[in-house]
Amino acid sequence: MRSIRPVQKVIDAFEALPGIGPKSAARLAYYLLNVPQEKLSKFSEALIRLKKDTKLCSLCFNVGEEEFCPVCQDESRDKSQVCVVETSLDLLAFERADGYKGIYHVLGGAVAPLSGIGPNDLRIPQLMARLKTGEIKELILATNPNMEGEATAMYITERMKEMGLRDTVKVTRIGRGLPTGADIEYADGQTLTRALEGRGEM
Ligand SMILES: [Zn+2]
Repeated sequence: MRSIRPVQKVIDAFEALPGIGPKSAARLAYYLLNVPQEKLSKFSEALIRLKKDTKLCSLCFNVGEEEFCPVCQDESRDKSQVCVVETSLDLLAFERADGYKGIYHVLGGAVAPLSGIGPNDLRIPQLMARLKTGEIKELILATNPNMEGEATAMYITERMKEMGLRDTVKVTRIGRGLPTGADIEYADGQTLTRALEGRGEM
């Protein structure tokens, strides 16, 4: 049975989110019916401002509020070391691990031919442009240890070879300590720190 229209609209919106099925969507919508209007207004205002008040960093494509994200703005970070991650959530996981002092490059996903995501749909051209400046001495490939993540890491090293960048930039891959198929986003800090420390040259 469908709910009355205003409720059903909210159910549909929740159901469109990843990991939320019809039952959870209905539970959340009916829960919100019992929340005071003032709180609901704050919630909806936060949603409205979510995209309006954020910007992607011009250098690393992390989420921030200004042209450069807080990591890139931090002068204590080592700008010669760049950790390549799939998403801003992966970046957050490394930041929570609290041992990494370099900066990042957020690709915006991984190469996935079956879903029609090719290298040019990711921020790989922008990464190559950063590498060409000569400021980067080490590139740490921290894409997920699954098929798409490995393919993405391989593609980046191939591109670097073609561009003659393999001799000037050290390329490492995180791995040891991070089980195959693991999701960086959900890995705990200790595991990520170990995976970073145990990175191997490619
Ligand atoms: Zn940045």
